Amino acid sequence: MLSHLLTALIWLLPAVAGGWLDGWRGALLGTVAATAGAWSLHAWRGRQVLRWLRHGPAETPPPALRGLWGNVLYHAQRALRARQHEADARAQQLQAFMAALQASPNGLVLLDAEGRIEWCNNTAAAHFGFDAQRDRLQHIGNLVRDPAFAAYYAAQAHGASPAPGRPNDGLVLTGHATHAAPPLQLAVQLHPYGEGRRLLLSRDVTALAQAEAMRRDFVANVSHEIRTPLTVLAGFIETMQTLPLDDAERQSYLGLMEAQSRRMQALVADLLTLSRLEGSPLPSGSEPVDPGELLHACETEARSLSAMLCAQTPAPHALHVAAAPGFMLTGSAAELRSAMSNLVINAVRYTPAGGRIDVAWQRLPDGSAEFAVTDTGPGIAPEHLPRLSERFYRVDRSRARESGGTGLGLAIAKHVAQRHGGELRIRSELGRGSRFALVLPPCRIHEAAAFSRSRQA
Ligand code: ADP
Repeated sequence: MLSHLLTALIWLLPAVAGGWLDGWRGALLGTVAATAGAWSLHAWRGRQVLRWLRHGPAETPPPALRGLWGNVLYHAQRALRARQHEADARAQQLQAFMAALQASPNGLVLLDAEGRIEWCNNTAAAHFGFDAQRDRLQHIGNLVRDPAFAAYYAAQAHGASPAPGRPNDGLVLTGHATHAAPPLQLAVQLHPYGEGRRLLLSRDVTALAQAEAMRRDFVANVSHEIRTPLTVLAGFIETMQTLPLDDAERQSYLGLMEAQSRRMQALVADLLTLSRLEGSPLPSGSEPVDPGELLHACETEARSLSAMLCAQTPAPHALHVAAAPGFMLTGSAAELRSAMSNLVINAVRYTPAGGRIDVAWQRLPDGSAEFAVTDTGPGIAPEHLPRLSERFYRVDRSRARESGGTGLGLAIAKHVAQRHGGELRIRSELGRGSRFALVLPPCRIHEAAAFSRSRQA
């Protein structure tokens, strides 16, 4: 208000002074001079504001102006600040959006209408071996050279894109070659968006492909394992139906048939055990299991199998079973019993008559405990050891079948150990014997006395 009054006074003063000095001529001259002065002042201030706006209002401080131009400056600054806030908020949003795209476990590549890479996230760069900066605006066909991808891309480009709501199956490619084994398998899909643009999605399906291959192998193995005894059984049945057999021959055939049906029964039982292990929740951490009882049950089983196998031989197995350990376990008694029994029975089956077998539970220095079965059997060559606990893996197929094995015993033992947080350790030397140990972690081992006290409480 004061500044407006002052401006009016400065404006009036030359006119009044001119009028006082030289009448109306002086007043006119004074008014013209005051107007010219005022215009020059406005022009100078306006130029200052313009210069400030031109030189980047964000970086340089605004000129110190009052009055009308000060007001203009104030409103210009306010508008600029509001615009800046808006731009900052948008930039933050964009950053959050880009961070989300980067965090995606799937690869994302944005392609322009010509099929050139506009942007890709780090996952896509790793999947396809792109360099996110260097390969910008490169045509996707120059970088992903798989002919199947080229055909898929061309089909999409010619309008073979799926109708909305219909699944876009995409295809599976081998990804960027790395030292990793097995090679990276990628499920790749192209989705159209915007004007002729496309979104390329990639997903690592290596584990899935591996699981699928394992499932196929497993089905093939099970079919093979069942088909063999079934073929033998069918052959015997046909023989018995077509040939006139005496009683002794008939009995012999029936015995052989029984052995085959037992083999199938054992296989089905082991398959059921495996599927139960895979489908049931992890063993409880509080259910008490007495390892002494399990040891005793295994010993009885092993002695009767050994007596059966060594019935025709002069020297049976020397089976040494240690006393019950002074600790308790927590876990699943049925699972532990099945794992222990598989190890002991293998030792009896693979160790020739007269050989020695040692069976014991013991504490290890790190607080864990192991159930170890040591035999003086044929031993296993080192190249077989890493694969020994795979389903249906056998060192010597014909011998294992002869001894009535299903090929699943060690797979079950390893599974049980892992479900209890432990592991299956195998040591073996060809011609000297083997040692199979089921190791359980310290959290599953409890002093017998402390355990019974805590349970009473
Ligand atoms: P199987 O039912 O054939 O015995 P397992 O899974 O129990 O299947 O064992 C896998 C293979 O490991 C066996 O076929 C056998 O070749 C080898 N094996 C297991 N235990 C012993 C052992 N104590 N001594 C020698 N070889 C063994």
